[in-house]
Order: sequence, then structure tokens, then C-alpha cells
Amino acid sequence: MLRVLVAALCLLAPVRAQEARQYLADLLRLDTSSPPGNETRAAEYLKRVTTAAGIPSELLGPDPQRLNFIARLKGSGTARPLLLMAHTDVVPADRGQWTVGPFAAVIRDGYLYGRGSQDDKCYLAAELAVFLDLKRRDVKLSRDVILLAESGEEGADTPGIKWLVANAYDKIDAEFALNEGGFAMDTPSGTRIFQIQTTEKIPTRVILTARGSAGHGSVARPDNPVAHLARAVARLVERDQPVRLNETTRRYFEELAKVADYAWLAPLLPKLKSIEGANQVRARSAELDAALRTSVSPTMLRAGMKINVIPNTAEAQIDVRRLPNETAEEVYARFRNIIDDPAVEIAPTGAGRPATQPSPISTPLYQAMERVFRKSRPRAAVVPYMLLGSTDGADLRAKGMAVYGVPLFAENDRRAHGNDERIALQTLEEGAKLLRQIVLEVAR
Ligand SMILES: [Zn+2]
Repeated sequence: MLRVLVAALCLLAPVRAQEARQYLADLLRLDTSSPPGNETRAAEYLKRVTTAAGIPSELLGPDPQRLNFIARLKGSGTARPLLLMAHTDVVPADRGQWTVGPFAAVIRDGYLYGRGSQDDKCYLAAELAVFLDLKRRDVKLSRDVILLAESGEEGADTPGIKWLVANAYDKIDAEFALNEGGFAMDTPSGTRIFQIQTTEKIPTRVILTARGSAGHGSVARPDNPVAHLARAVARLVERDQPVRLNETTRRYFEELAKVADYAWLAPLLPKLKSIEGANQVRARSAELDAALRTSVSPTMLRAGMKINVIPNTAEAQIDVRRLPNETAEEVYARFRNIIDDPAVEIAPTGAGRPATQPSPISTPLYQAMERVFRKSRPRAAVVPYMLLGSTDGADLRAKGMAVYGVPLFAENDRRAHGNDERIALQTLEEGAKLLRQIVLEVAR
């Protein structure tokens, strides 16, 4: 009886508050900027910490400097595994733009600063804390819990998720996964909106190349490639992209419209599918508009080398994020139509991510998140969410795994990839507690 009571008390106790903080500070001090990555530093750290707790682990991958980390806690096998995943690489930091060292893990005014504190080492620290806590308390699990820390998420996914899916999928195969990519935000009226990421847009970047004949700038030529390119870019950004909803975004807009701060959305709901309705949404929020259609952002231009020399070619790079229920071919064909100029060629660029169906909101994991988040605040809304960016989750969804971006950390001040990236210590600790509750609900 006493043992039962002690066990019950242990399960109620929170993750040791300082623990996630310590892990995050340690991880932030390891410079894993990609390029070049050096994620093996983080993988070795994870190995040390888990080994000390008596958990076996593996470092693996095609590049010794960029290894992935995998460890597993065994369950009874009643249910299929739960995967906790986070990437170890971070984007570079421009030191001159920071007020603290980006790899110094400085604590100031209740915030822990460092590159990766929001993206994505906070997740890794919380997952590690929960993973070790399960082991320490000897929690009887109904399913295996796997901890995966993958390398190369930030634009170089070959050593990380793509390699793992191709070469070691059996080691990470799970019924479902918790990943980055969900966001919690507090509205002005005091509602916390937990946005659980169930799907994401697909990077579909293109290069436009206009070709013409080179010559002296004193003779204006109709085939000037700079002029053709400028026209093509202008046409692309000015034309409204078609609207298409999917099961995630349909539900997202419906649920959002119930929150007082988004009451303005309610009368627009019946019109959402039309360009007119979407344009009214755009007038209020560029982010919400980007959830309704494929987005087109020109980001780089290149042409010419001297003011009096007409160049042969001119090039524009366009960051296109397409809806998951639209094919790349559809997008290219539409762009060709819009540009309507044989002198301008459209070519895809970059690795990209696979197209996938949204992960269902009917799984025990989604429902556990819903319960935990609702209980956590007097005024909480829980909504399925389509990420406008992209994550490693897409590659696992393509294998049939249900993957969720779990909104653990409520942070309206998003600094991922920005200067002075930081996380509030209180937010971090709350996030680790929420994660622990979710994992216990679904894996015990
Ligand atoms: Zn990330």
C-alpha cells in the first residue's frame, strides 16, 4: 500500500523545475550552427546524460560531425511507440546584433538567452527532462517512448531526418510523434490559444530566369531580360493565388472565430473559399491569409554588372510555400500562365519536403493534448493548426506517422532565427510540465 502511495505521489510531482533549465543551458552552450552544424556535440551530450541515468542510446548518421541521437524506454508493448523529437542544429547568429553571447546561455530578467532557445533546443530540453523523469520514477509504460534528436533540420536535412527515414526507420517508427511547429499565444482578452500543428505548408522554391540579348545600354531592346524579369515578378506577386481549405485549416478558422479576439472572422467564414473572402482576411492578417493559399515572396534578384551593359540573363528567387493539398506541378503551371512570357523560365530549386495528409485529430495523443491544454488554463482554446513554415515532421508524416507540433511554450514574442533569441524560464518549466502530463496520459 505504501509503495502504491509513494508511486502515486511521484507521478503527481512535477518534473524537477531546474532540470529542463539546466539541460537547455548546456545545449545552448554547444555551438551547433548550421552550416556546418557539428550536431555531434549535442548528440554526445545527450548520450552522456542518458547513460548516467542508465539508458542505452545510439549515435548514428552518414556524417560523423552531424550525428543523430536515439534512445528508447521500453514499454509493455500494448501499444505502438510514442516518439519525442527535436532537432539539434540551429541557424547562425550574427554576434554583432546580439546584446549577449548567442552561445553563452545568459540568464537576464527571468529569460534564458541563446541561439536555439526557441528553435528548437527548448523542445529537446523539455523532452530530455521528461524522458529521464520516466526512467527515474520507473513509470510503467504501455508503449515504448523514443527520444530522437535529429541533425540538419535547418535547410540541410540529408544527414538528419531524410537519412534516418531511409536507413534507420525501424529505430524511430512510432504510432505518433511530438515535434516542434505548434504555437501557444495569449490574446489581448486573456485567452491562451494552443495551436497544435497537424500539417504544414511545403517549401516549393523557384528560380525565374529571363533571357535576352546582351548589348549596349544606349539601345533599348524589347528582349531586355531585366525588364522581362521585373514584369514576371510583379505579375506573380500581384495576382491573387487561389484559396483552398483542408481539414486542418477549415477547423482552425471555425475554432478561431469563436475566440472573442477573432469575432471579426465569424461573418467571413462562409466566404473563406472565395478570393474576395480571403482578401478580407488578408486586410486583417497576413499570417491568416497565408493559411488560405500558396504564398509568393520574391527574396533575391540578380542581374547585370554595369549600368551601361544590358545583361544576357536576369534571375529572381521566389520563396513559394504551397498548400499541402496542391501539387508542385499545379503551382508551376499556374505561374507559367500568370507570367505568360516565353522569355522567362521557371525552375524548381532546393530539396523540399514531401506532400502529406494532415495528421488526424482523433488520435489518443491529440485528445490527450487537448485535455491537458484545456485543463491548464481557465480560458484556453485548442485548435489544429497548419504551420506556414516546415519541419522534419513532414518526412515522418509521409511514412504514415501521425506527427504533431505541440504548443508547449506560450510565447507571443517569437524570436526564432532572430536576434537575442530567448525563452522565459517560467515558460520553459511550464512547458516541461505540460509535456510530462501529455506523455503520461498517452504512454502509461
Ligand atoms: Zn526548428
